[in-house]
Amino acid sequence: MSKRVQSPSSINTYKQCPRKYYYQYILKLPTKDNIHLIRGNVTHTVLEQFYEIDSSLLSENYIEELTYYVKNLFNAHWTKAYPKIMKLGLTEEQIVFYYQETIMMLANWLNHILQKLRKELETKPVEEAFRSIKPTAIEQEFSSNELMVRGFVDYIEEDGSDVKIMDYKTSKKFELTPEYKLQLAIYALLYDKKYGKRPTKAGIWFLKHGEITIDVDEELVKLAKFEIEQIHLATESDNILDYPKHEGPLCRYSTGQCDFYETCFKLYPRNTHEVELQAIPQVQNKKY
Ligand code: SF4
Repeated sequence: MSKRVQSPSSINTYKQCPRKYYYQYILKLPTKDNIHLIRGNVTHTVLEQFYEIDSSLLSENYIEELTYYVKNLFNAHWTKAYPKIMKLGLTEEQIVFYYQETIMMLANWLNHILQKLRKELETKPVEEAFRSIKPTAIEQEFSSNELMVRGFVDYIEEDGSDVKIMDYKTSKKFELTPEYKLQLAIYALLYDKKYGKRPTKAGIWFLKHGEITIDVDEELVKLAKFEIEQIHLATESDNILDYPKHEGPLCRYSTGQCDFYETCFKLYPRNTHEVELQAIPQVQNKKY
């Protein structure tokens, strides 16, 4: 059987719960929207489009101009996402909370950008200074047929021979979790496969807090290679019995539940070894 195309998300889903992987990537059951997903998409779009501003229009009032631009971008994309947000069943107070918290995250990020810009402005006019703080690449797709893995890097910065690959996160915690570390390790390996050299650093820009980076060393690349090998071995089968449930706090929590909770505990309520094969829906032939 040919290998499935994996991604940092699919690998982390498998590590969290193999059954969840089965529902999402093999049965391809639909996932549900939630506020964190929608807010994450809105924020990523704003940060991506921020650099599309015509910097020749920036004046000495660049701070007000960029602040206004970010606010407008955010309001436009939040408004576009609003019908989806309304369907989530949140209270008005909750929606206002997420709106204000996202504004605060973007303001925090913009402050960091303005600091970089101020430094460049010591020697350059505003248009040139803005160009020089622009990442080398934004939202770049990496894909390897050899590894059968793909992923999107939010932005890449180059400074001479130093290369930094970065991902944005809206998480509450300012912590490089094992899941984030694995995601960065895979991006670093994919970068290496594409360009024939390792990035120097990889990191997360936590919009609520700031940046955490790590060195890309042999150990990090080995971690990516190991986990990719493991996921291919673990997902060769189409049989639900090979994807055990990892029941735990992520099945159901105070503010929500796993997207597949109903399927998992109502359609297949019994333990894996008791599941009747006849009850299992036909697996689609197409690989993720
Ligand atoms: S409900 Fe729990 S056991 Fe079932 S797929 Fe989700 S995380 Fe896994």
